[in-house]
Amino acid sequence: MSDDLTLPLDEIRAWDGTVPGLLGADPWRSHTYSGYVADGGYTKIATPHSPADILRVIEEASQLAALRGRGGAAFPTLHKLKAVATAARELDARSVVVANGAEGEPLSYKDRYLLRYRPHLVLDGLLIVAAAVNAGSAYVYVADSASRRSVANAIDEIDVRCGGDGPRLLIEQAQDTYVAGEETAVVRAIDTGVARPKDKPPRPYQVGVGGVPTLVLNVETLAWIALALRPDSTPGPDRFLATVSGAHLGPRLLELPTGVPVGELLQELTGDSNPPFNVLVGGFFGGIVPVSTHFDVSYDGLKMLGAGLGCGALHFLDPSTCVISIAADVVAFYAKNNARQCRTCMSSTDAIANFLAGAGKPRPNVDLGETLTRWSIQLPGRGACAVPDGVALLLRTLLRHYSEVIASHQHVGCEACAMAPPTSRWEHLSITPRGPAADRQRMLDNSFDLECAR
Ligand code: SF4
Repeated sequence: MSDDLTLPLDEIRAWDGTVPGLLGADPWRSHTYSGYVADGGYTKIATPHSPADILRVIEEASQLAALRGRGGAAFPTLHKLKAVATAARELDARSVVVANGAEGEPLSYKDRYLLRYRPHLVLDGLLIVAAAVNAGSAYVYVADSASRRSVANAIDEIDVRCGGDGPRLLIEQAQDTYVAGEETAVVRAIDTGVARPKDKPPRPYQVGVGGVPTLVLNVETLAWIALALRPDSTPGPDRFLATVSGAHLGPRLLELPTGVPVGELLQELTGDSNPPFNVLVGGFFGGIVPVSTHFDVSYDGLKMLGAGLGCGALHFLDPSTCVISIAADVVAFYAKNNARQCRTCMSSTDAIANFLAGAGKPRPNVDLGETLTRWSIQLPGRGACAVPDGVALLLRTLLRHYSEVIASHQHVGCEACAMAPPTSRWEHLSITPRGPAADRQRMLDNSFDLECAR
């Protein structure tokens, strides 16, 4: 990779720069193999250990006890690891591990950042878990060609691979779809080239790539595992990567302590701890909540509000932006980007997007709140993946936090909603490369020079 890079996001930094973390002091300079090893990387896989030994080391690392998957589902990582190790042992088979960097979420850039600039952290974590579950193959599932090149270079640099008995390291490039990162879609993509979710069970830990137990972990999850198992690692506060963007805020990638009060975050970023913003949390997948709820930015803090932290993306909305209109944008995105294989998901996302897009005109004969409530109850669990659940969660947060806005749409209407264009409404919400079209590929390949339109 070139060192001659445009400055990535407006700001990439750890909240507390004194704690060694994933971003480091020089965030847009890629780690080299020799630099990474000098910092204590790859030590856990430099000498042969039995899978049971490595698994025990991971279990005994206090920083990893509460680690949850950072891809969005937040499943406890140790449970997943142990389930794959047990399934492979019982079958007397070598398992498969996958570093999932597909990152289909339009408001998140953390995984692509890690694969481009911190590939050795991800590969180190991948090799550690591969050793723990006795994997014969380890895949890096990348979102784009720039990540692929960075990871390929890093693999070339590695000359330590779990002794002589390490897994084969392979790269697979994800299709450019929202659902390509769902873990059954990951398995299917590696097996067949088509990234479509499958019905569950079986789950990948039972039957995965090539029919063997497969551990699919998000690349940020793997990076935290690698960092925690370095010899000089010191337990610190639980942290996570957050892509933060929105009204009057350029996109930025921050390493935040889990549970930081949203007011403290906004005070730091805008100088105001309680602006009347609303927030799309978890990107498109965690719902909308008002800043005035003073939530802590954590899984539990957002769960208390009926919302979710998802992949850690936070998008702040100006109070002049109608939340119903934003919800219409998000559901329109789902309508356009679902995998078109589950009837309920296809028909519901289309119908809900159109219904919300039309909510600007008063409809005395339709009860807006009741209709949204019905969908929010009917949708969960109705698809091969969690897209219908995400739409239901979005509707539940609207109903819970914006009942007055819904009532006002019902009785008075809304000019902003009525004037919004009906198609491609979500595109102005996604973080996209900045610059003329001719430069677009260069920027995709080499930088994180981004803008966010709202
Ligand atoms: S639920 Fe929707 S997005 Fe998920 S697999 Fe089915 S059609 Fe695709």
